[in-house]
Amino acid sequence: MLPIDLTGKRAFVAGVADDNGYGWAIAKALHQAGATVCVGTWPPVFGLFTKSLERNKFADNIEYPGGKLSFEKIYPLDAVYDVAEDVPPEVRNDKRYIELANYTIQECAAQLVKDFGEKPLDILVHSLANGPEVKNPLLETSRKGYLAAVSASAYSMVALVQRFGPLMRPNSAAVSLTYLASERTIPGYGGGMSSAKAALESDTHTLAFEAGRKWDMRVNCISAGPLPSRAAKAIGTIEKMVSYYKLNSARTEVMKADEIGTLAAFLCSPLATSVTGALIHADHGFHSMAMPVDVPL
Ligand code: NAD
Repeated sequence: MLPIDLTGKRAFVAGVADDNGYGWAIAKALHQAGATVCVGTWPPVFGLFTKSLERNKFADNIEYPGGKLSFEKIYPLDAVYDVAEDVPPEVRNDKRYIELANYTIQECAAQLVKDFGEKPLDILVHSLANGPEVKNPLLETSRKGYLAAVSASAYSMVALVQRFGPLMRPNSAAVSLTYLASERTIPGYGGGMSSAKAALESDTHTLAFEAGRKWDMRVNCISAGPLPSRAAKAIGTIEKMVSYYKLNSARTEVMKADEIGTLAAFLCSPLATSVTGALIHADHGFHSMAMPVDVPL
């Protein structure tokens, strides 16, 4: 047997707020492989997520063969703010933020050090994205909306690696999640989100080099197939995309979140020490097709 063994490792998964998304599935796989898991949850949904956990709302999706996902700690994290001074007063005083503290990236890193010591982490997962104008075609996207998408969905990874890098133990790994719209046109994936994903992918190889040399950290990016997560449902076309992929991919099963979970666990494990700076398509081969098969010839 060649197991994925993450015993003794600690992961931080940024972007978990329910049990429907890729972040949850990745957290579950990392935990199943033996890692302890902390998560970073966006302040506007922090209360809902922690209460739902307390009330056992995720009972249907929390178990895995031989165990059950649990979080060592849940941190509030808003990945568009690097340091406390970046948070504007209207956000700081917003009712969803006012009772929370230390939710910028730097403060979150400092909390991890306070809780677990100088070098608390082995695995960093970026599973978050936000594009306020995602429903707008690129041609109708404002500068503000475009830059907000890039800030929340791409620079957030740079900032996380920058500020969590010093916390990583040797031989650590980071993974982010992207989508094919960076490489090909996906109508409906607008608001600068396609551009943000292209930036995220490009930054993967540069971060792999820089963070690799600086902290002995590997950095990879998974280009995942469609999943009806909360974020994806906000785009409005996800069910159509799931059906389209099912008809037109090399494999005709519907993508499962757990498939991305196990892939991320592999990439963060000692089995994948040769892989860094890579973009890995995990979409049942959809990306490799050049002609739809649901159209009669
Ligand atoms: P999701 O809703 O489970 O995850 C997105 C998370 O981002 C949410 O928990 C949300 O609260 C968080 N978030 C938004 N803005 C944030 C901020 N400023 N700071 C911190 N957290 C913030 O949805 P998902 O689809 O699983 O998305 C996870 C990742 O997977 C994203 O990068 C997404 O683009 C990518 N992805 C998704 C699909 C898909 O079809 N669902 C396909 C390919 C890639």
